[in-house]
Amino acid sequence: MYKKPLRIAIVLFVAFLLLLAHFGGRMAAVETFSLAAGEKHIYLTFDDGPSTVVTGRILDTLKREKVKATFFIVGDRVYGREETLRRIAREGHSLGVHSMSHEYNKIYASEGAFLRDIRDCAALIFSVTGIKPTLYRFPGGGTHAREKALAEEEGFTVVGWNAVCGDGETAASTVPFLLRRTKETAAGKDNVVLLLHDAAYQKATAEALPAIISLFRAKGYTFCAF
Ligand SMILES: [Zn+2]
Repeated sequence: MYKKPLRIAIVLFVAFLLLLAHFGGRMAAVETFSLAAGEKHIYLTFDDGPSTVVTGRILDTLKREKVKATFFIVGDRVYGREETLRRIAREGHSLGVHSMSHEYNKIYASEGAFLRDIRDCAALIFSVTGIKPTLYRFPGGGTHAREKALAEEEGFTVVGWNAVCGDGETAASTVPFLLRRTKETAAGKDNVVLLLHDAAYQKATAEALPAIISLFRAKGYTFCAF
């Protein structure tokens, strides 16, 4: 019933957090909206795929656990993995744009380059899955105020995050490290947008996912996709 207002509130909340982080504030401990007592939601969001093995293992876990998630796709990584991208869509997960190349100097080179990148990635996702994505996540995070306005003019909702599993913080993640970072960064938050990655080298993320799901389930969170 409240799904759409909740979605908007979370996007605004996350954008606010990113702004705070950008200006030297801390990501944690800022709640700008509240829901009825006992309402807890978690959005699992996976960036940087698709990859052949890791994305497949993550999809297996999500299917087994009956959890829907959101995948932010890098266009260049789709080639040769079209079937993986189709599987994400077929199994009911949400798809978003995360650039064609993930190369910051190309993506943010100019307004024109930014728009071309977002349009190319969206067109590729559409050509493979038949789904027109309306979600966007900035490669490298950050605020990018002008680009955010451009993405919104293109009809995209920019999605940030307010918790991380830590797989972007070290090249050699382990399951205990990922669980610890998840707990630390999600602590005290009733609405969690968790950043995870499904690139080829994120094997530990796929390994940790069942435990991450159990963690939130045990605390009474409902799993949502954007
Ligand atoms: Zn990324």
